[in-house]
Amino acid sequence: MKLIIASNNKHKIYEIKKILGSQFSEILSLSEAGISHETVEDGTTFLENAEKKAREIAELSGCPALADDSGICAHALDGAPGVYSARFSGTHGDDEANNRILIKMLSDKEDKGAHYTAAVVLAYPDGKIISAEGHMYGRIIDTPRGERGFGYDPIFVPVEDESRTVAEMTDEEKNKISHRARALAELLSKLKGEN
Ligand code: IMP
Repeated sequence: MKLIIASNNKHKIYEIKKILGSQFSEILSLSEAGISHETVEDGTTFLENAEKKAREIAELSGCPALADDSGICAHALDGAPGVYSARFSGTHGDDEANNRILIKMLSDKEDKGAHYTAAVVLAYPDGKIISAEGHMYGRIIDTPRGERGFGYDPIFVPVEDESRTVAEMTDEEKNKISHRARALAELLSKLKGEN
């Protein structure tokens, strides 16, 4: 089955292709599929946004489309930045500024706990959808470390790992425990259950 990833985020596309590579005959990003489309992400949940992105691209392309909507929720901030993770600082995709703001907002909080969530939705042109969600729990540190990954990875230490940030892990290590990998594993098992 050919699959289009309803995203222009090169980091997400890289991770999704690495995790799902062997399951589909061809996986194309939006630009590789020649689609130029920006979904307005106005949902209040990760799932709502992922469903909207996947449905729009499945309809536009006539192919199954997979969307990931994800972000980080700090427990002492009532779940912020949440669905605003990509634009927390005001500028969409400015990872360094987003990290700085989150560190600052947590500086006087004792609870540094946080979790990533990824909602993934596979939409078909006939309107059918399959969805799944995954989480990765951990804590926010106040000095960024590591060069790998993206987004909040340099300031996030997962509970599975005592000291390293996600940005200090290899791709393989991140893909064993990440919210995205867990959401995609659940999606795949739902997909296999149908066949
Ligand atoms: P979206 O493209 O609207 O889903 O926004 C996702 C945003 O959440 C990214 O820009 C990052 O700031 C953050 N995010 C989601 N997944 C990850 C991850 O695996 N590592 C680091 N940051 C992430």
